[in-house]
Amino acid sequence: MNIIVCIKQVPETTDIRINPETNTLIREGVKSIVNPFDMYAIEEAVRVKEKFGGKVTAITMGPPQAEAILKEAISVGVDEGILICDRAFAGSDTWATSFTLAAAIKKIGCFDLIFCGKQASDGDTAQVGPGISAHLDIPQVTYVKKIEEIDPALAGKGWVARVERMMEEGFEIIETPLPALLTVVKEINEPRIPSLKGMMRAKQAKIVVWGQKDLNLDPQKIGLCGSPTQVVKIFTPPPRVGGQMLSGEPKEIADKLVELLKSEIH
Ligand SMILES: Cc1cc2nc3c(=O)[nH]c(=O)nc-3n(C[C@H](O)[C@H](O)[C@H](O)COP(=O)(O)OP(=O)(O)OC[C@H]3O[C@@H](n4cnc5c(N)ncnc54)[C@H](O)[C@@H]3O)c2cc1C
Repeated sequence: MNIIVCIKQVPETTDIRINPETNTLIREGVKSIVNPFDMYAIEEAVRVKEKFGGKVTAITMGPPQAEAILKEAISVGVDEGILICDRAFAGSDTWATSFTLAAAIKKIGCFDLIFCGKQASDGDTAQVGPGISAHLDIPQVTYVKKIEEIDPALAGKGWVARVERMMEEGFEIIETPLPALLTVVKEINEPRIPSLKGMMRAKQAKIVVWGQKDLNLDPQKIGLCGSPTQVVKIFTPPPRVGGQMLSGEPKEIADKLVELLKSEIH
């Protein structure tokens, strides 16, 4: 089975700071890590490989230093890392990002399953996984919390995966033919920690780098030119002001509340 896992390098912080002049993330002085949800995607990809055999390829689109997260993926069982890196990709929105990643996956050629995280902890849109599946014209299942079964004969026509998809209340069971793209939530597994052997393998691994020419992409369809989204303004919402506590007997509180609501309306 050929499995692809898409991973993103993100700042190791939940306190995302924005440069108000350029409307871009301030990355200086912040350590970079694998997007936390992508660690679960990597683990699930490796588990599927361990069960069915085959190969796991991790891909990331990012700057040269994003090579580090591909090595981290290799240290926990991924076989190969591909870095999609070119100045021509700078300024990509989620459309251009998923278009470029889909082009890289087409270049890899043969694939049965693609794993993504539920969302990135910085951009936070959760659009890239579904975007890739749309560009590749393959089925997608988002918020997967368990792979129940992957079977060559479930539907009598090729490989089918049966998965549990997390909902607000409960879960759905969905069967999808392969190839398919799954985005995963953290309930799906417990990511392993790298072994010494894995760390040695990662250190020696050679990361493949593909740019715009390798993917043969029209410059108008990538980077800023290929990004239909315009960021007009980015800002941090002001902190919420504390609520007002009403005290007294229930009737007294109800009366005060009615008065307050009336004064708000006026
Ligand atoms: C107009 C515009 C300009 C932008 N310019 C820049 C810029 O110059 N530099 C910049 O860094 N960002 C830029 N961004 C943000 C960039 O578009 C997003 O970070 C990126 O498209 C991923 O979206 P997301 O972070 O919401 O990921 P999500 O959709 O939340 O991620 C979901 C999953 O998709 C996969 N995934 C997401 N991104 C990648 C990736 N790069 N490689 C591999 N897998 C991935 C992962 O599995 C991840 O868990 C820009 C956004 C807009 C709208």
